[in-house]
Amino acid sequence: MNSQHFVPSSLTIARSLRCQGTLVVEDSPLQKANLCNWLRTFGLDNLITSGDGHHALELVRNLPQPPCLMILDLELPGMDGIELLQHLYELQIKPAVIVLSSADDSLLGAVATMVDAMGFRLLGSLQKPLTPLDLYAALEKYQDANNPTADSNGAREPSPEHLRQALVSGAIVPAYQPKVDLQLGCLAGVEALARWQRTDGTSVPPAVFIPLAERSGLIEQLTLAMLDHVLAEMAIWSGRGQPLPMALNLSPTCLSSRDLTNAILQKVSDSRQNPALITFEITESACVLDLPAALASVSRLRLKGFGFSIDDYGTGFSSMQQLARFPFTELKIDRSFVHGAAERESLRAILQSAVDMGRRLGITTVAEGVENRAELQLLRRMGCRQAQGYGFARPMSGKALQEWLGEPLRAALRLCMN
Ligand code: C2E
Ligand code: CA
Ligand code: CA
Repeated sequence: MNSQHFVPSSLTIARSLRCQGTLVVEDSPLQKANLCNWLRTFGLDNLITSGDGHHALELVRNLPQPPCLMILDLELPGMDGIELLQHLYELQIKPAVIVLSSADDSLLGAVATMVDAMGFRLLGSLQKPLTPLDLYAALEKYQDANNPTADSNGAREPSPEHLRQALVSGAIVPAYQPKVDLQLGCLAGVEALARWQRTDGTSVPPAVFIPLAERSGLIEQLTLAMLDHVLAEMAIWSGRGQPLPMALNLSPTCLSSRDLTNAILQKVSDSRQNPALITFEITESACVLDLPAALASVSRLRLKGFGFSIDDYGTGFSSMQQLARFPFTELKIDRSFVHGAAERESLRAILQSAVDMGRRLGITTVAEGVENRAELQLLRRMGCRQAQGYGFARPMSGKALQEWLGEPLRAALRLCMN
C-alpha cells in the first residue's frame, strides 16, 4: 500500500503522541524515511530519529523528556534493539514500544513477551516489510484504555492527593463487563472494573490509578468504595427478582488487612446481599505476599460463602502451587492465552490444559479477553465454562448493562450457540 492512498480514519492518536515525541530507531535510511513519512501523515511530527542503538541511547539520555513512543528495529548495527531495550529498562525509561523485525514469528513472540515482562507497553511487534496500515493499527492501540502511563487524553499522571479527592467525591465508579455461560447459553454475571472519570471529561485508566492506590495506601478505601457501588447495583437487580452474580477485584495488599476483611463482611451483611453472589478475583501474587494473612482472609470470606477466583491464571510463576493452597472456586484464564489461541497451536495447548485443570478441580473456568467467534467456538469445544471479552461486550455502566440485556445479549448468546 502506498502512503498517498492511505487515509487514516482518525487523527486522534496524534494529540496524545505529539506531546513528548516519537523516537524512530531504524538503520536503513530508506525504511526510516518511509516510516517518518507515514508518521507525519498520521499527524505525528515530533519525531526523533536514530540509526543505531548506542546513538539512540545517548539521545534518550539527553532529552529533557523521554519520548512517549519508540519504534524500534531489532536488527541494528552495534547495539541491537533488544540490548537497547535492556538499557532503557535499567534506566527506568519506559516509552510505548513498536518492534519491527524481519525475524520469524517465534522470535518476535519471545521479544514481545520480554518487552511486556519489562513493563513496556507493547503496541505491536510488526514483521517487515511494514505497511502503513500495520503501523496505524499499532499506533491506535496507544489510545487503548489499558494504556498504563498516560491517560487517554495524554494528561499527566495523577498524584495521591488527586486520587484521594476522587475517592472522596465519588469519581471512582464501577463499569460492568458481562460474563457469559458458554455451556448454558445465559448471562453468568459481571465483573466490576474501576473507572475514574475526571470532571473535565478525561479519564484515568485503572492500570495507572490502581498501582497508585496500592502505593499510596488508598487501595482499601478504593476497594470499599467499589464494594458500596456494587452492593447498590446488586440491590437494584435483586429488587427486580434477577440476582446478579458479581466479580470484584482485590489487590494483593488487601488480603493482608484484617480490618478490610471485617469491613467487607460488615458491608455485605448490612446490605443483605447473598455472599454467594460475590466472587473476589485475586492474582496469584496476592497469595504470596503474606501467606498466613492471605490464607486467613480468603478462608474467612469463603466460610461466609464468597467465591474466589485466581485471576490472570497462567501468567505467574506459581499458579499451580497457589491453586493447591487456596480454596479457589474459579480459575480465570489470562487473556494472553485466549486471544490468538484459534491461530496459535502453543496457546491452544496451554488453554486446554488450564480448562482441564479447572475441570479436574471441580471449579468454574472463565476465559477472559475473548474477542472473536473463532476463540469462542474453540473455548466451547474445549469445555470452558464461561467467557468474557470485547467479543461480547466492553465494560459499561449499570444503566447500559440494563439495555445490553435485551437484543445485544441475545446476539452474544447466538454467537455462543452457533
Ligand atoms: P483484570 O482484572 O484482568 O480485568 C480485565 C481487563 O481486561 C480490564 O481492563 C478489561 O477492560 C480488559 N478486557 C476485557 N475484555 C477484554 C478483551 O477482550 N480484550 C482486551 N484487550 N482487554 C479486555 P481494565 O478495566 O483496564 O482493568 C485493568 C486491570 O486493573 C484489571 O485487570 C484489574 O487488575 C485492575 N482493576 C480494575 N478495577 C479494579 C478494582 O476495582 N480493584 C483492583 N484491585 N483492581 C482493579
Ligand atoms: Ca479481574
Ligand atoms: Ca484478568
